[in-house]
Amino acid sequence: MPRDSGPATTPAILLEGLTKRYGAETVVADVNLDIAPGEFLTLLGPSGSGKTTTLSMLAGFVLPDAGRVVLAGRDVSKAPPRARGLGMVFQNYAIFPHLDVFENVAFPLRVQRKPQKEVETRVWDALQMVKLTGFEKRYARQLSGGQQQRVALARAIVAHPPVVLMDEPLGALDKNLRYHMQVEIKEIQRRLGTTMVYVTHDQEEALTMSDRIAIMNHGRIAQLGPPREVYEKPENAFVARFLGEANLLAAKPAAGGAVTAKGAPLEAGSGALGAEGGFLFVRPEKVTLSAGAAPAGPNRLSGTIRHASFLGNVVRYAVELGEPEPLLVDAANAAGAAIFGPGETVTASWDAGDCRLLAG
Ligand code: ADP
Ligand code: MG
Repeated sequence: MPRDSGPATTPAILLEGLTKRYGAETVVADVNLDIAPGEFLTLLGPSGSGKTTTLSMLAGFVLPDAGRVVLAGRDVSKAPPRARGLGMVFQNYAIFPHLDVFENVAFPLRVQRKPQKEVETRVWDALQMVKLTGFEKRYARQLSGGQQQRVALARAIVAHPPVVLMDEPLGALDKNLRYHMQVEIKEIQRRLGTTMVYVTHDQEEALTMSDRIAIMNHGRIAQLGPPREVYEKPENAFVARFLGEANLLAAKPAAGGAVTAKGAPLEAGSGALGAEGGFLFVRPEKVTLSAGAAPAGPNRLSGTIRHASFLGNVVRYAVELGEPEPLLVDAANAAGAAIFGPGETVTASWDAGDCRLLAG
């Protein structure tokens, strides 16, 4: 959503200093988030980083030890889940086995004691949206994993809640179906203008679906920003490594800039090393290889091809530079592109604007 335009609106969701401890372990530590109406926000992080716990505090299943949950200006920190009016799809998306598809989807409306006529209209709309009309009378055991997932999705949106929470909803699906469902969830969310908080450990899923991504590490938000920003401008080594392939070339401060461990000059358009040095971050697709040894200048390093793997649309090289780590380079498999073989001497180079210094 365009967050910078127009007058400030009341956030759909405000998390303030949200903290949860289990025994001596702080599993969610001072999480602050301000989510706009209609925004698709993803919590992305490795297993155990506190994503589900954060979502559970938002939903009301887990009470925080500190901090507040505010929904559309209303402090619900102590309210039970049913008083929060949220739609949910959880990790184990179990739909009720004793109810058919219609009644599974109707469930939130039955709880709200909606009249039968309205239940029928809304269930029909929801089934239409997830493309499951005609399946009303089936039971879970008569549905594929993907179809059950759609039922869970229909159930989450049937009451048109302003906020929907999803915890790894596509984890059990194979790659093709996953992609298909990502597109559908996104489309429905846009059409209904729903505010979405979506949890995944899948970086690609987060990059395709989100307006903003909060990358979690050890219960904290390591970085928050739009997909492109967190991918291209990671603020720390954890984020750089977690999102896609990254080169983190050991670097140390030098007069007027930075140098590699071996002393080759580096120039970066952004970021800074720590007092003890750190890394130069550059994505494999931003590095260019050319034949022969490097001329003098920053961000030009001589190396030897150690390994070349053909991945279809790209060729991925590991280039031995004599630095602590080899450099990964992705070269597009474009018409006329040179292909290098193991042992060849090459120059790896990149623009200052495409790399970044990070503290160690
Ligand atoms: P994620 O969803 O990112 O994988 P979780 O939020 O489920 O992470 O868990 C974060 C940490 O909290 C983990 O180390 C987990 O073992 C711990 N944890 C979660 N729930 C409980 C609980 N009820 N009791 C004790 N520890 C828990
Ligand atoms: Mg989880």
